[in-house]
Amino acid sequence: MPSIFSKIVDGEIPCHRIAENEEFLAFLDINPLAEGHVLVIPKTEVDYFFDLDDDVLSRINIFARDVAHKIKKAIPCKRIGVAIIGLEVAHAHIHLIPLQNIADINFERPKLSFTTEEFADTAERITRV
Ligand code: AMP
Repeated sequence: MPSIFSKIVDGEIPCHRIAENEEFLAFLDINPLAEGHVLVIPKTEVDYFFDLDDDVLSRINIFARDVAHKIKKAIPCKRIGVAIIGLEVAHAHIHLIPLQNIADINFERPKLSFTTEEFADTAERITRV
């Protein structure tokens, strides 16, 4: 059974795409902690992030770094925070979260909700950087 993220990669489930290459995809988290909360995934499904091969692990972090720079330019924030959780979706991913303060990366906080148009606007602002 493919993960929900593999279904996004295959186009079965929509996403607000931020960046992609042959190996990786970045898209907006649907239940964000902050505006511009992005997930970076390998297109090939691997459950646990720390099971990724050395080369893939290196490349996904470089890909995520480039995405983080774009988010930082588009979304007012002090820094982009990084989290590896994976308790909900068993498909390796990196959370990139714009931070104004430490509470912005508290996963126990209620998530923000945005309309489809608002998500699309956020994605457009990040991708056009
Ligand atoms: P975790 O596995 O605990 O790192 O959390 C998985 C993250 O994936 C959560 O922040 C969810 O909001 C997010 N998520 C789950 N389904 C989707 C989806 N269809 N599109 C975008 N983000 C999603």
